[in-house]
Amino acid sequence: MLQSFRYMAPRTRPELLDLLAEYGSRAKLLAGGTDLLVTIRAGVHKPEVVIDLKKVEGFSGLSWSQTDGLVFRPTTTINEVLQDARVRKDYPLLAACAHDLASYQVRNRATVIGNVVNASPCSDMAPALLCLGATAVLSSKSGERRVLFQDFFIGVKRTILRPEEFLERIEIPAASAGVKGDYRKLKRIQGHDLGIVGVAVALKGGKLNIAVSSAAPTPVLVQGLDAGIAVEAAVEAVAKATSPISDVRCTKEYREFMIGTYVRRLLQEVRA
Ligand SMILES: Cc1cc2nc3c(=O)[nH]c(=O)nc-3n(C[C@H](O)[C@H](O)[C@H](O)COP(=O)(O)OP(=O)(O)OC[C@H]3O[C@@H](n4cnc5c(N)ncnc54)[C@H](O)[C@@H]3O)c2cc1C
Repeated sequence: MLQSFRYMAPRTRPELLDLLAEYGSRAKLLAGGTDLLVTIRAGVHKPEVVIDLKKVEGFSGLSWSQTDGLVFRPTTTINEVLQDARVRKDYPLLAACAHDLASYQVRNRATVIGNVVNASPCSDMAPALLCLGATAVLSSKSGERRVLFQDFFIGVKRTILRPEEFLERIEIPAASAGVKGDYRKLKRIQGHDLGIVGVAVALKGGKLNIAVSSAAPTPVLVQGLDAGIAVEAAVEAVAKATSPISDVRCTKEYREFMIGTYVRRLLQEVRA
């Protein structure tokens, strides 16, 4: 049964910051609700107040500029990312990860920011953001903090966000435009499903970045490998950085095997 809570829908950023300062950990923010409502229904979260971000002025859409790069806001949905011509042309890795997240219907509600704040080890957007050097901009009444995504995730469903903060923007550097990259996600079924493992590879400025989901308590980034690294050395570097477990979806050994397989395939693809 859905717990009862107060629903609030601020219209401006200052109103939102006031509410966060007042309610802190007693509040939960609502973007698409595709994670939040499931957890409230399951009794995992029992917020006193749910604060809807969708009516806040200036919180929608995505933009690009040479200084800020590609910017996602609190209600930018996964489908908006996928439908953006610049993303499809210049950020193919981002499009590949977005395409593998859930179904069309879920992607219409689900936001990029909700996906990373949920901080599931199997997040599909995290590997692209890690590989492309994205920054999270966290805001509260006391100001703004900027952190790279490798410092944002701190455990299963845990991030560095403080109760009075919200994730206001994700910025992907303009310099990451044109980076060659792709994503492979292993699922139990052909349709939409959470990942058994996900591997992203980006070839950026003579260096290789590899990110893996569902292979440790947080999504993992192995960055700055030499672009010409031997394939098996790259596989080994990724194996050292990850610590997959056995669970209801598959065994640890199968995960290890498939991570290696995907790293090999993706390296071949981005180097072609
Ligand atoms: C059927 C189904 C299939 C799914 N398949 C996948 C999949 O294949 N891959 C995958 O990665 N995920 C999947 N998900 C999970 C989910 O859809 C995604 O994580 C989604 O991107 C979450 O976005 P949202 O906008 O719905 O977040 P919400 O549910 O609105 O919020 C998620 C969390 O983030 C917090 N939050 C939201 N916005 C902010 C903000 N700006 N600042 C601070 N905190 C914030 C909320 O309080 C909440 O704790 C699936 C979910 C469902 C229901």
